[in-house]
Amino acid sequence: MKALLMTDLEGITGVDSIDMIFDQGSGYKTACENLMADVNAAADGLFAAGLDEVFVVDGHGGGANFIPSLLDPRVTWLKTGWEDVIRERKVDFYGEVGLHAMAGTPNAFLDHTQNSREWFSYEINGRPSGELAQGAGFAGVFGIPTLLVTGDFAVCEEAKYLLGDIAVAAVKRAVGRNRAVSLPAGEARALIREAAVRAAGLVGTVRPYRIHMPAELTFVFQRTDYCENHQNDKNERVGPRTLKKRLDRIESYLDLMP
Ligand SMILES: [Zn+2]
Repeated sequence: MKALLMTDLEGITGVDSIDMIFDQGSGYKTACENLMADVNAAADGLFAAGLDEVFVVDGHGGGANFIPSLLDPRVTWLKTGWEDVIRERKVDFYGEVGLHAMAGTPNAFLDHTQNSREWFSYEINGRPSGELAQGAGFAGVFGIPTLLVTGDFAVCEEAKYLLGDIAVAAVKRAVGRNRAVSLPAGEARALIREAAVRAAGLVGTVRPYRIHMPAELTFVFQRTDYCENHQNDKNERVGPRTLKKRLDRIESYLDLMP
């Protein structure tokens, strides 16, 4: 059995203030070390559950957050080509480590969807959606279920609401949008490891998240100029700040973007 873990930084244990997630911010290095520790905890749980391959992707920002010397040597770090691994159905399930809730979620640490400055809200077929739905939706096209989500309490609630009874590990709670209180590191990583073990046991019991086709995506931007900048021949401007995009099929993760 194999799995692919996408990663983000906002939902990582110990990442508790907004300045930790930008590469010039104070605390960024600590955030990256914590990212490695959370990934390793998830991978350790998956290997303990008998997986023979765990692919991981450095998904935050430009994807330059991993510290190779701290990464569990058993994992396969995909620097490119993660979409092909999904398309070619090389994994039995998909997971998200360190994720955050969709833009507009209250009591969520750094809630946003893709770009917090530009995107106000995002819907898939009229349903408020975020990065979780995008990742799970892309994997779901190829029949791959999303079985593991780690992050703050809010994204874990979002995951259960969207995907059902999957394995989640809530490692912190937001205090307002830009601060969080994390569990002690050891406790958080034990939860992540436990959730990973549980995720492996869910294969075959949880259905993939399927986006009904043809799909309609709605993007509402914070300002009219952001809307203008995202206008292209694949979408239609239906309001001053709103784009709609119709999809007959999903072939790439980018299809779920404007
Ligand atoms: Zn993100």
